[in-house]
Amino acid sequence: MTTLEIKEMANKYLINNYGERMIALVRGEGAYVWDADGKKYLDFVAGIATNNVGHCHPNVVKAITEQAKTLIHVSNLYYIEPQVKLAKRLVELSFADKCFFCNSGAEANEAAIKVTRKYSKENVGEGKFEIITMHKSFHGRTMTTITATGQPKYHKGFEPLSPGFIYAEFNDLKDVKAKITDNTCAIMVEPIQVEGGINIPSDDYLTGLRNLCNEKNLLLIFDEVQTAMGRTGKFFGYETFGVEPDIITMAKALGGGVPIGCMATKSHIAESLTPGSHASTFGGNPLVCSAALASINTIVDDKLAENAQRMGKYLMQKLLSLKEKFSMIKDVRGRGLVIGVELGIEGKELVNQAIKSGLILNCIGTNVIRFVPPLIINESHVDEAMAIFEKVLSENV
Ligand code: PLP
Repeated sequence: MTTLEIKEMANKYLINNYGERMIALVRGEGAYVWDADGKKYLDFVAGIATNNVGHCHPNVVKAITEQAKTLIHVSNLYYIEPQVKLAKRLVELSFADKCFFCNSGAEANEAAIKVTRKYSKENVGEGKFEIITMHKSFHGRTMTTITATGQPKYHKGFEPLSPGFIYAEFNDLKDVKAKITDNTCAIMVEPIQVEGGINIPSDDYLTGLRNLCNEKNLLLIFDEVQTAMGRTGKFFGYETFGVEPDIITMAKALGGGVPIGCMATKSHIAESLTPGSHASTFGGNPLVCSAALASINTIVDDKLAENAQRMGKYLMQKLLSLKEKFSMIKDVRGRGLVIGVELGIEGKELVNQAIKSGLILNCIGTNVIRFVPPLIINESHVDEAMAIFEKVLSENV
């Protein structure tokens, strides 16, 4: 099918919640994708920080192929070998002792909210249910996770929202402190707010939240759906900032491109999710767990977090030198390979021009261009991307 044919069918048969899209991608390899008309693109969106090992990594393809020939799905009524292997690997790599698997970031956050409330009621006090989240946060699109998300634009039209969420300013310890009540049971935060505009915490912020949680007997939840799996230069974002949460959520890059989410925590908290208290039909099925295990092992064995650090520095340098040249660039910020370029103008048209020139970028909100390439990139990919980005900037002065 051509792009036009795919677009016409989409208009006819799909609900329009994603709006109009420029291209239809049909093939991927490493850092490149091809559209339905055969045009090649360098992909610096990577499925929105999901294809960390690149497109169709041979290890992930092999794991999926072999597992698909053996056992694709069975219920969690039975033990699942790839699921226990994946849980063991994640426990070895993290502060956590136990994992629960689901299918997406929103579901991982739902699980985190459920275990937090149950643990807190059972162990801290019956009235403990309120969770403090941050303005400009993003935690997902289910009813409860849009409520946790501190951005009114995601709430509009879907009210009434779930009760029990209070918003504080990101990067403002005083404000969080002021929002704690007798009912508070947890603070939930992204180590870097990506969807909120790539907001980086100040050095003492996450440590401050940790101390506050210890002092007030609250749980600290890190939503690492977009920051885990090497993206920030360490395997987990919390390692980049040197602060351990009590609960972590992951999804996106965990599966190397297949849908999987995970909520992981310490044993004493995990105990609250007793048999029958939470579940998912597909959560942790053999196919996705085999893909995730292959993806994680690739990230660790190929030192992709370290590569994200190196390439992140290289990309940051290049973007900072573009900032010197183009006054429309107001700020460049990020960690590892999650970098945002804040513009003084709207970013949508620039992104469209970059895509037409063969570089896939995306815009957060109206004016922050997001750079979240696969972690397998090298200097020549960055140089290729920067040549296109500079050309687009120069056409818009
Ligand atoms: N949490 C964060 C930090 C995210 O960036 C996202 C998605 O962008 C989500 C949660 C929701 O994940 P999903 O779309 O897999 O439900």
